[in-house]
Amino acid sequence: MDPCTAQAFAQVPVADGSQVDAIVQAAHRAFHDPAWRDLTPLARERLLHRFADAIEADLPRLAALEALDAGKPIGVTETVDIPAAIGWLRTYAGWPTKLAGRAGTLSATPGQWHVYSRREPIGVVAAITPWNFPLVLAMWKIAPALAAGCTVVLKPAPETPLSALRLVELARQAGLPDGVLSVVTGDGATGAALVEHRLIAKVAFTGSTATGQGILRASVPDLKRVTLELGGKSPSIICADADLSVAIPQAAMGCFFNSGQVCYAGTRLYVHRSVYDEVVEGIAAFAAGLTLGRSADRTTALGPLISARQHERVTGYVDRARAAGMEPMATDVALPGEGYYFAPTLLRNVPRDAEAAREEIFGPVLATAAFDDLDEAIDLANDSPYGLAAHVFTRDLATAHRTAARLEAGTAFINCVMLADPAFPFGGMKMSGIGRENGSEVLDAYLEPKTVVVAL
Ligand code: NAD
Repeated sequence: MDPCTAQAFAQVPVADGSQVDAIVQAAHRAFHDPAWRDLTPLARERLLHRFADAIEADLPRLAALEALDAGKPIGVTETVDIPAAIGWLRTYAGWPTKLAGRAGTLSATPGQWHVYSRREPIGVVAAITPWNFPLVLAMWKIAPALAAGCTVVLKPAPETPLSALRLVELARQAGLPDGVLSVVTGDGATGAALVEHRLIAKVAFTGSTATGQGILRASVPDLKRVTLELGGKSPSIICADADLSVAIPQAAMGCFFNSGQVCYAGTRLYVHRSVYDEVVEGIAAFAAGLTLGRSADRTTALGPLISARQHERVTGYVDRARAAGMEPMATDVALPGEGYYFAPTLLRNVPRDAEAAREEIFGPVLATAAFDDLDEAIDLANDSPYGLAAHVFTRDLATAHRTAARLEAGTAFINCVMLADPAFPFGGMKMSGIGRENGSEVLDAYLEPKTVVVAL
């Protein structure tokens, strides 16, 4: 379905349990096949770089597919999504030669033993991804898993399977042995069959908190390893001394980028009372300058929401906020006639316990409120079941760092928003997830340490 036109343009199969079984069996055989298992680390690095080369050569096509499928502006998929996926793959392509264990002696009876540890790939990985950054979030899992020597079965979201299908063709073209990276298309039942399969050793999931909880429960019988990147309701604090020429556009794009369909979007905004009106009006004016349009149009800043279901959900939140007196200000932007477009919207004076301040809306809706002192703002920011990201805007360095230390979030941003990098861990505290992706930290999720004890 093209979210810009609400027209179907492709059909993709929904795999059943027996098809999932066949794909997992093939991935399991590939895991034990010497063609993959016995590659030298350097050969695995070269292969992953060849895979990155193939993606790079295919960038225009992948960017067009991703734009069409997810309704994202082509200018964004070309410069953000696909280059990020390549960057992630190249970063982890450098890891196979550096995955050494360590050596030492036992603390008891030194001299009698030599001990060393190995880091072994965990097995077949199920990578399950959402529709908001289809290729990027798939690569956050695929790149470290392949670097570790695992094999991967990717289950993309039913709304956006196309870039995953193309990715697997490119993997084959680059020379990855059969079964090392496969894709299985389908819905939640397909994902559930994958998670429950006895040959899956680890599940790497990005999606909603409710689905993540279900995956954790389903992983219990086999005690599968699980990492979860889930929802968020990330707060931003704008202090009285903040540089508003920075804070206003950053807070606006921190919420509205990708039409608010970003897990770590800054969707709760706490502003010092002395600058509250100026900030809220500034953000509304900034948002009014954003062009909503078709994904193929290079002047488009914001595309539509992903689906009719998502449009209904977001509309429901705003309608209920209006009924509760939160004065929604829909910015005055022209909405293209068809498709699931939603104008960036600000809610004013949102109480701490309001639905709009507590639940993830996953649309371009910013819940704002004024505060009088910083302790109150930090308390408001931390009063959430989620803990994915948090932001503080201030000119005072000490305030910035002290606040960053007190915010309950996997990433704290000072005077900026939305930056994820393969070099640093990303993930959530509290109900935003378990474990971390990215950084060297993520490799532990795909490796089992083994201690080897040698009698001398
Ligand atoms: P979702 O949880 O409905 O679906 C995500 C994926 O899980 C899809 O591929 C879906 O088919 C699959 N799935 C659904 N039920 C399943 C089951 N029982 N077992 C296994 N797999 C199953 O989420 P969504 O609606 O596609 O994505 C939006 C959500 O994802 C938002 O809540 C957002 O915050 C979250 N998200 C989080 C991050 C992050 O990094 N933390 C990133 C992007 C999106």
